Amino acid sequence: DAWDFKVELASAPATAEARTAVLTKPGFGQSFTDHMVLASWSLDRGWHDQRVTAYAPLRVSPAAAVLHYAQEIFEGLKAYRHEDGSVWAFRPEVNAARFTRSAQRLALPQVPEEAFIAALRALVTVDEVWVPPAGSGETSLYLRPYMIATEAALSVRPAHEVLFGVIASPAGPYFDTGPKPVSIWLSTSSIRATPGGTGAAKCGGNYAASLAALGEATANGCDQVIYLDAVERRWIEESGSMNVFFVYADGRIATPELSGSILAGVTRDSVLELAADLGHKVEERRISADEWRDGLRSGEITEAFASGTAAVITPIGRLAWSDGNLTIGDHAANHGVGPVTASIRAALLDLQYGRTADPRNWLT
Ligand code: PMP
Repeated sequence: DAWDFKVELASAPATAEARTAVLTKPGFGQSFTDHMVLASWSLDRGWHDQRVTAYAPLRVSPAAAVLHYAQEIFEGLKAYRHEDGSVWAFRPEVNAARFTRSAQRLALPQVPEEAFIAALRALVTVDEVWVPPAGSGETSLYLRPYMIATEAALSVRPAHEVLFGVIASPAGPYFDTGPKPVSIWLSTSSIRATPGGTGAAKCGGNYAASLAALGEATANGCDQVIYLDAVERRWIEESGSMNVFFVYADGRIATPELSGSILAGVTRDSVLELAADLGHKVEERRISADEWRDGLRSGEITEAFASGTAAVITPIGRLAWSDGNLTIGDHAANHGVGPVTASIRAALLDLQYGRTADPRNWLT
C-alpha cells in the first residue's frame, strides 16, 4: 500500500537567508517549506498522481464540495531533529490510524496507513533543511496532512473527487519564555461535540464551530475554552485543541475517558503511559466540573494541564466560569508549572528529542 511519489523540485525555493530567518524565529503555522505532497483520488480511478511538488496555492473550483459542505479532515504531528542530526516523527502511525477514522466519519476515501507515513517521509526528505537544528530549544517541523473534497458538485453526497496533501511548517516553542500557565473558560453555553456527532474526528467543522466560544473566553479574560458534555452538561470533555489532565495530591493523574465526542490525542495517550512509568496511578474516567472545582478548593487537586502536539503540555493556571473563578497551583514557583506537570513534560520532550531511550518505538 506504500505509495511512490514523483518528485518535482521547486524551481524557486527560498534563499538560504530567508530560510535561516524563519528557522531562527519559527513561530507557529506562519511559514511553510518549499514543497508539499499532493495525491488525487476519484471514484473511478482511486488514488493516483502522488507527487512532491513546489508549495503553491491550490486550484479548486468555487463549487468544490469542501467549500460548501466542509467535507474535510486533517492531522497534526511533528518531526524533531536529534543531536546527531537525524530527524524523527513521533508516533506517526497513531496519526495515520486517527486519519483513517476521521475519513470514515466524513465519508472520505481511506489513505492506506503505510501511504500516509510514506507521504510524511517523502516531504521531510525533500525539505529536510527546514527541520530546525538540534539545540535550538523546543523547535520542530510541524506536519499537516489533510484531505478535502474537490469535486465541483453541489449535491449533498460524498464527493467523487478528493485531494490528499501534506504541508510542513517550522515550529518554535509555543511560548517564547517556556511553558506559561493558561487560563481556562468553562463554557456552559457552547457545546463542542455531541454523541453521534463528529467530536472524535479531526474535521475542520469542529474547529469552525469552536471559534465563537473562543471569543467568549477572550471576552472573559481567558485563553482557552473547556467544554462540558452535551447531554448532562456536567462532565469535562476537552479544550478546543487539547486534552485535559488533573493531578491529585495523592499522586493520581486523571483525564476524561474517551466518550465518543472527545478527540483521542496522541499526546494524551503518551502522557498516560509516561505518567505510569513515573509511578503515577492513571485514571481515564468521567470527571465533573464540580469535582474539579471542589478538588481545587479542598486541595485534593493540585495541578491541571492540557496536552496536544502544538503546545505539548501546558499548565492550567486559572479556571473561570460564569460566576466564579479559581487559581490553580503556585504561580510564584517555577513559572507556575507544577512539579508533576514539569516532570511529565520533561519525560515527553526528552523522548521526542532523543535524549532518553525509546522502549516503545514511538519514534520513526
Ligand atoms: N483535542 C482536540 C480537539 C485537538 O484538535 C487536538 C489536537 N490534535 C487534541 C485534542 C490533542 O491531540 P494530539 O495530542 O494528537 O495533538
